[in-house]
Amino acid sequence: MHTLIIAAAVVIGVVASPALASGAEFGPSNPFFAPSSLPFQAPPFDKIKDEDYQPAIEAGMAEDLKEINAIANNPAPPTFENTIVAMEKSGQLLQRVLAAFFSVSAANTNPELQKVRSIEAPKLAAHADAIHLDSKLFQRVAAVYKERASLKLDPESLRLVEYTYDQFVHAGANLSDADKTELKKLNEELATLSNTFTTKLLAATKDGAYVTTDKAALAGLSDGKISGAAEAAKGRKVDGFVLPLQNTTQQPDLFSLSNRTTREAVFTNSWNRAERGDANDTRDTIARIAQLRAQKGKLLGHPNFAAWKIEDQMAKTPEAALKFMNALVPASTAKAATEAQDIQTVIDEQKGGFKVQPWDWDFYAEQVRKAKYDLDEEQVKPYFELDNVLQNGMFYAANQLYGLPFKERKDLPVYAPTVRVFEVFNADGSSLALFYCDYFKRDNKQGGAWMNSLVGQSKLLGTKPVVANVANFSQPAPGEPALLTADDVRTMFHEFGHALHGMFANTEYPSLSGTATARDFVEFPSQFNEHWATYPTVFQHYAKHYKTGAPMPEELLAKIKKSATFNKGYDTTELLAAAELDMMWHTLPASAPVQKPDAFETEALEKTRLSLSYVPPRYRSSYFSHIWGSGYAAGYYAYLWTKMLDDDAYQWLEDNGGLTRANGDRFRTMVLSRGNTEDLEKMYVTWRGAQPSIGPMLKDLGLVSVGASK
Ligand SMILES: [Zn+2]
Repeated sequence: MHTLIIAAAVVIGVVASPALASGAEFGPSNPFFAPSSLPFQAPPFDKIKDEDYQPAIEAGMAEDLKEINAIANNPAPPTFENTIVAMEKSGQLLQRVLAAFFSVSAANTNPELQKVRSIEAPKLAAHADAIHLDSKLFQRVAAVYKERASLKLDPESLRLVEYTYDQFVHAGANLSDADKTELKKLNEELATLSNTFTTKLLAATKDGAYVTTDKAALAGLSDGKISGAAEAAKGRKVDGFVLPLQNTTQQPDLFSLSNRTTREAVFTNSWNRAERGDANDTRDTIARIAQLRAQKGKLLGHPNFAAWKIEDQMAKTPEAALKFMNALVPASTAKAATEAQDIQTVIDEQKGGFKVQPWDWDFYAEQVRKAKYDLDEEQVKPYFELDNVLQNGMFYAANQLYGLPFKERKDLPVYAPTVRVFEVFNADGSSLALFYCDYFKRDNKQGGAWMNSLVGQSKLLGTKPVVANVANFSQPAPGEPALLTADDVRTMFHEFGHALHGMFANTEYPSLSGTATARDFVEFPSQFNEHWATYPTVFQHYAKHYKTGAPMPEELLAKIKKSATFNKGYDTTELLAAAELDMMWHTLPASAPVQKPDAFETEALEKTRLSLSYVPPRYRSSYFSHIWGSGYAAGYYAYLWTKMLDDDAYQWLEDNGGLTRANGDRFRTMVLSRGNTEDLEKMYVTWRGAQPSIGPMLKDLGLVSVGASK
């Protein structure tokens, strides 16, 4: 459910790139040299070799440099066309290669791609900086900005002028030359450290797998799961069984593992994965990142990094985000405490003789769930066969709401054999987009699930959207069907919500297109789309037994619905704990010393009243890749913030006829197609007819009737 989105690389700018030591050349034989001739300009993955990326990235930066310099040094007076629009048109080669590169280096990486990523990451950061810190260019942007009211621009163009200007100021364009130099240094070091973190964490997560030769230790796992663990061992050329780690603190196998020693070992491997004092220990790296970010916030005129980061978000200030989160803490932790009591009762009834620990939670929660709702994930999974969920669920819902037909295309090249491609059509039969899906876990794939853009939509550039959804669902043993958990199903619908946001994009300018919105808005369309997974007519259409085709029995469905608020105290609390940790790290002042991550984390959780022995944060600081390795720093609260939006939005649909084409088209027209072309709060309120309220969220989480504990 909680996923990360890798935005299309919108990195434009100027910097001189040193010549490649290897002397790699860039010419017509490089598949990125010209726009792809495939439909939708889809990346020619069959022609792209690992060694093609680096020269194309270098050439892309150089080409961008030329284009941007020409704009900055244009002798003609600055105009909207020759400055703002010209910038929108620049850097197309770079965008082309980066979209493919970031996609493959996240979903299907290898040492060579990782090496390119480490070399290019700081150069790209410097490249982006150079454009925003180019004073000649900024003067032209500022001149257009100043005149904007008299230019008779259409609303989207006006928004682009303001957005571009704000981006420059946010990036430090108003700083003195000395401060600009300092900022560049900080950004380069931050980009390098962030990349170091990602590389370490990937290795740490792989090494953190639970390995055993004792089959008895795996008691409780299904036969399919055990043979999957044996396959995983073979893949790694080790004896016995391997349970790879997922990127969250809690691990899916903890639901079923009946051997408490194994559970503790799996949990401990997860919890300590990046804190083992070896080469993959991330603690020094994150402490340094936090310190540099605090310095960056100060340099840019803010009390801390978060204040700078959030200024262009819907929440606007860390105080607003903290106030929102703090308001959720009492109800969430009180609910978690009652859930812990229920679990302790089961443990005591079974004469367990221990107090519930984090590694016990899922195992016993599953028993409480069965006792209270008699709902067993293993009973449910046969009704969630992946292709059924995909085509008869996710696509079906999109067809009912938005009229979209989907057609699989096997003629387009993919970067891994299990990736599938679908062409998406509008209701009138016109072609809308390409949708790639890559659902199975691989050891060379980053953890979690995300959407990324392979080609961004823009009327100015004449491009239509090509988007991908990536996840880490367990790969079934050969010949077995891929059966999903209810959580996996939600993840699929979630990522597809991002995909729809990308595919419906209908804007002129690439900078304002699709998912290129604020962090605390971008999860709204995805979380909103999760609601359709359990919408009655959609659910009945896909939740069918993979062997018999029988629909899920009524009573099982009733149990699923009844259990929808089950464990929400835990879920909300672990999420809040991670979000508060993120905000605590990023509200450190520049004057603070380098922190010791473990002590800092303990204190931060106590301060926010989220220090519950049985509810660890969803991510520990040392493996919190959203905030150290991708763009969610000071932004993890966005998942909760956007939950407020998505529940509030769904409430509107429920009050207005639910799943209808009229409602779908209205939402598409007023929200999903509009990217960042207007103020996001205004966009929301115009569609909703009111400000969002927290009521539907509390109701959805089942937290309404629970009072504050203290
Ligand atoms: Zn998401």
